[in-house]
Amino acid sequence: MELVLATQNLDKIKEIKDTFKNLGLKIFTFKDFSYFPSIEEDKETPYDNALKKARTIARFTGKIALADDSGLEVEVLGGAPGIFSHRFAGEKASYEDNNRKILSLLEGIPLDERKAAFRCLIAISDGGSKEKVVEGICKGRILQEMRGEKGFGYDPLFQPEGFTKTFAQMSLKEKNKISHRGKALKKARKVLEEWTNTTVIGLTGNIGSGKTTVARMFKELGAEIIEADKIGHDLIKKVEVKKNLIRTFGSSILDEKKEIERRKLGRIVFKNKKKLEKLNQILHPLIFAEIKKKIASTQARIVIIDAAILLEAGWNSLVDKVLVVSTSYEAQLKRIKESTRFSSEEIEGIMQAQGPQDKKIQRADFLIRNEGSLKETKRQVEQIWEKELPKPGLN
Ligand code: ATP
Repeated sequence: MELVLATQNLDKIKEIKDTFKNLGLKIFTFKDFSYFPSIEEDKETPYDNALKKARTIARFTGKIALADDSGLEVEVLGGAPGIFSHRFAGEKASYEDNNRKILSLLEGIPLDERKAAFRCLIAISDGGSKEKVVEGICKGRILQEMRGEKGFGYDPLFQPEGFTKTFAQMSLKEKNKISHRGKALKKARKVLEEWTNTTVIGLTGNIGSGKTTVARMFKELGAEIIEADKIGHDLIKKVEVKKNLIRTFGSSILDEKKEIERRKLGRIVFKNKKKLEKLNQILHPLIFAEIKKKIASTQARIVIIDAAILLEAGWNSLVDKVLVVSTSYEAQLKRIKESTRFSSEEIEGIMQAQGPQDKKIQRADFLIRNEGSLKETKRQVEQIWEKELPKPGLN
């Protein structure tokens, strides 16, 4: 899944990226866009400011956006600077200016009366109906002088409860474990994990078994389909891949427009095991990488990978469940002859390359027998969708 951070503050970006390191998210920042709106924080609460930023950026980028609004609340100052934290000493104030202003306001106040808390509100929004705000608080006190070079903002003045160091004396890892933002981000991470809970189904079966037909039925119910064949077809048009294939199989695989003709390539590889292996060595890792990329960037709850050679190529390592579409040999032959221009010899070659149906069935979590009418097949698809898969839609 893709996530865009609705902030232009590089220090915050660093902290957020560190917390979301292993979540499998593709994180975008303002640097990935030629224009990125800067949003006026004109709301009265950090809750509303965070939500405004996340909604605006989600709508602008078309991606799920995460925004934070954090502030320091000092007890003897009645909760100030609060929502004015980053501009406490003026619109263009530096971190140092803000820290100095706090120090001067607290002059003469003893340590045990300098109680303070950092509060962080994080909003996540898809720009539409899906949004959530979470909060993290870190209690502590304001010291009488600045200590430490790390962190940012009021970190050199803030000593969290139970610690002798200030935030600015801690490593990013130490700080993220206990900080307001670290706590809020952990909650946000949970929300994102729920939102991104994609179930990936590998749909396989031999030629003419009805994979495409079954995939279409799942699509009508709301699944996203990734077609391995289509990825392969697009890949062989890429300059580098094309060059590699011509080097390996000769220019006889080209048509009159000097493009690779899949049928010509097929005739070579489907009757020669070694050549088929060579082709697979070139294309399979690239197709694998592309499928992986597509899974990472999807926002769908159910993704179906339609791939005749899912198991043989080892792409099943990318899926949660394997769904096999089977059919009788007679129905298979009849359908292929009716729906393709392949000769009997070509069909034979492809069927051999795809391996026996029984072996696929043994590895199936779900099986759809597509031997009868389309209505019967649809009934089986609906049964799996209703009973076996998580419901699509929003949390
Ligand atoms: P390939 O591996 O060639 O892509 P496939 O497994 O995706 O094949 P489909 O394209 O879904 O198979 O089906 C092959 C042909 O059989 C299509 O023309 C399709 O409309 C037809 N077909 C599939 N299932 C049925 C069925 N239950 N009844 C009648 N026709 C069917």
